[in-house]
Amino acid sequence: MSEIKTLQSYLSGQWVAGTGEGSALYNPTTGEVVARASTSGLNLKEALAYARDEGGATLRAMSFAERGALLKAMSKAIHAEREALIEIGRINAGNTRGDAKFDIDGATHTLMHYAQLGEALGDGKVLLDGEPEPVARGGRLKGQHLLTSKRGVAVHINAFNFPAWGLAEKAACAILAGVPVLSKPATSTAWMTYELVKLLEPVTPKGVLSLLCGGAGDLLDHLEWQDVVAFTGSADTGHMISSHPNILAQGVPVNIEADSLNAVLLDPEAEDETYDAFIRDVHREMTQKAGQKCTAARRVIVPRERLDEVIADLSERLKRTVVGDPAHSDVTMGPLCTPSQRQAALEGLARLSEETKVVYGGADVGDRVGLTGDAGAFINPTILCADGPLPASSAVHNLEVFGPVLTVIPVDSLEEAISQAQRGEGCLVTAIYADDSRFLQESIAELSAWNGRLVVVDAQVAEKSLSPGLVTPQLLHGGPGRAGGGEELGGLRGMTLYQQRCAVQGNEPKLSRLTSGAR
Ligand code: NAP
Repeated sequence: MSEIKTLQSYLSGQWVAGTGEGSALYNPTTGEVVARASTSGLNLKEALAYARDEGGATLRAMSFAERGALLKAMSKAIHAEREALIEIGRINAGNTRGDAKFDIDGATHTLMHYAQLGEALGDGKVLLDGEPEPVARGGRLKGQHLLTSKRGVAVHINAFNFPAWGLAEKAACAILAGVPVLSKPATSTAWMTYELVKLLEPVTPKGVLSLLCGGAGDLLDHLEWQDVVAFTGSADTGHMISSHPNILAQGVPVNIEADSLNAVLLDPEAEDETYDAFIRDVHREMTQKAGQKCTAARRVIVPRERLDEVIADLSERLKRTVVGDPAHSDVTMGPLCTPSQRQAALEGLARLSEETKVVYGGADVGDRVGLTGDAGAFINPTILCADGPLPASSAVHNLEVFGPVLTVIPVDSLEEAISQAQRGEGCLVTAIYADDSRFLQESIAELSAWNGRLVVVDAQVAEKSLSPGLVTPQLLHGGPGRAGGGEELGGLRGMTLYQQRCAVQGNEPKLSRLTSGAR
């Protein structure tokens, strides 16, 4: 058996270990314990103060271009150790090579994107928000909105499924906005984040990036009103954080990215190219990272007359999905990240199966390359099928099974398709595969208030279109309602969580001179 790694935290500019045994981190392919992390006894009040004082002052002294250069150095430092990080993704999260690259390259790409935004913003430290507005007759008295760095620390609490990208996408926005970061990855897959912060330490000024590896302890008790929390995880934990007494008392802003029952719609008249892209993308969303993406498709809403064709074509693709030990190069889908995630997914599958029938896969242990017995946190890719439109109370519209499981829902009209999609009550993303203009217009008009992002694929873009689950730094990530109501990324929009908007009112010519360094 290989050595068990102890993960330390990086707080107040030092690597520190908590006391006691701490929590175990597993290899989900074998069930072996591979690392441990404890935060017991760590002084989180002091760590937050250090980040605010030391890291905040350093970042605020830097221009946008200098912060951009820092993000570029961070991106390069991660990329240089890509192969070693891919191996950690395999060991601690059951990632195939492709899945680990998706996480790690997503991190470097997002950091680089924000590095370029910083470079383009140049020497300023403050952003102008809109044009000067006259506030009284006579012309001299005007107001200008500014966006300036908050004086606190950005506390980033992340989910287990993206230990690299989760750190980077949040940190890129906060650091470019001039706010230091304390990142808390989910304990179960924190090894990747720990290695990332080790790599980033030499290029990151003290206090700019802190790491808490293990349970959150009393972290929330010490937050102050200039701090910000950005959370990704389950709706229950998000609710617990946003209703924490100190968060409420201090008025700390909390951005929440939570569960989402993402939908996919297929137009009955979809052309062949559009249909092929639909099958390609639904299959990828199901199997990439074993379905453990917050943006993965969960509900596939199809015209009844195409139901059999859709199930046959998806099943055909799934037969070519090789499940097993990600150490084998021909394996294309690994296990879920933890045994408890597998248990939760099996329970969820059983609940959905009460309302649907299994048309592919199911709860039985299937064939797994390189493994015998029932070791490992594996779930078969599974397609469930409903008889028809389901009521709002249905588990299919309310329960996110965080694994390679989706439900196909047959409908008889565009109106039925839209109303089924809306029953997710707020999604990160809905994808629409259509060529008919009425289908496109009505679904976009009716679904935009229910989603943070709509992905529209027609025959002309089918070949080049990005899979709906791919989050890009240019576009918003987040969604209303069940998805948490949060907003991340979206280019410069991603910085606003970490900025204070202030309206400065006064004598216009003087104001213009004072704000001439702002962008
Ligand atoms: P989780 O159990 O809610 O945990 C999320 C994070 O919250 C972890 O870092 C966890 O730390 C931390 N946490 C737990 N209790 C806390 C407390 N009392 N104070 C402060 N932090 C606390 O979620 P998960 O199982 O990691 O992730 C799965 C869920 O995340 C799924 O439902 C999925 O939909 C959602 N998700 C959403 C998005 C999105 O962008 N919308 C992305 C990915 C995942 P410990 O690990 O130490 O307990």
